[in-house]
Amino acid sequence: MSRIVYVNGRYVPYAQAAVHVEDRGFQFADAIYEVCEVRGGQLIDEARHMARLARSLGELEIALPMSGPALAHVMRQVIRRNRVRDGLVYLQVTRGAAPREFYFPGPDVSPTVVCLARPVSTARLAAAALNGIAVKSMPDIRWQRCDIKTVMLLPACLAKEAARKDGAREAWFVDADGCVTEGASSNAWIVDHDGSVITRQLGTDILPGVTRATLRDVLGEERMPLIERPFRLTEAYAAREAFITSATQTVMPVVRIDGRQIGDGRPGPVTQRLRLKFHQIAAISSA
Ligand code: PMP
Repeated sequence: MSRIVYVNGRYVPYAQAAVHVEDRGFQFADAIYEVCEVRGGQLIDEARHMARLARSLGELEIALPMSGPALAHVMRQVIRRNRVRDGLVYLQVTRGAAPREFYFPGPDVSPTVVCLARPVSTARLAAAALNGIAVKSMPDIRWQRCDIKTVMLLPACLAKEAARKDGAREAWFVDADGCVTEGASSNAWIVDHDGSVITRQLGTDILPGVTRATLRDVLGEERMPLIERPFRLTEAYAAREAFITSATQTVMPVVRIDGRQIGDGRPGPVTQRLRLKFHQIAAISSA
């Protein structure tokens, strides 16, 4: 079966899917994106992803390229045409293509919209969740608007590649005060010795993760204590449990940070419970 990608109003074969060489996404990373989990052929937390997409566009003063229902239709078409049951749908909007010039182009330039979907191996994710993953800490060298989900992901690529070379699956960014901001492509959490779940409060230094937001709901439902504050890397080393959240991994246990074992080196009970409960609380919409 050939893969199909949506590009600016057309559903095209993967090999032919292309944007202009002077697209501002390509030249300036002047673009935002969303990644939504597809599970059992259904979309997880679609409304929250669409709300964040609208916010990201608003922060960059990029006009909404099409109505919410039209975007929802495109995502569903891409999922269906690629027969994705478990995986992800990726939606990217750039400011559009225009002769290279830093100033924003005029209103005649329309945003570029790309949507693709791909399967993700649930077996591989389950195996990772069973054993837990390793993370490597790195100085947070990103900009001061990490709350906007832009495609300006070079620091994240550098960090994740360095992590991979060290046998770790994710990188945790650390600020000038020695506190963890977030993962390169996830939010970072720890569980302290009282059983409190700790994650950094929202601000311009982290992405407001959709999985993070839904996990707050899960914690509320479960009457589990949540503390939103910065935590130091040294606190994470000594934590009882650690985990990351993202749309594609939901709740993923962390069992090693910088080669140090966290807790007993196995996914902890709080993390496992949250992982189990997540899809019982997350919003599901048919694709
Ligand atoms: N932080 C960063 C930097 C990310 O790239 C991501 C995943 N896109 C997240 C957090 C998690 O966000 P979400 O739960 O919405 O996938």
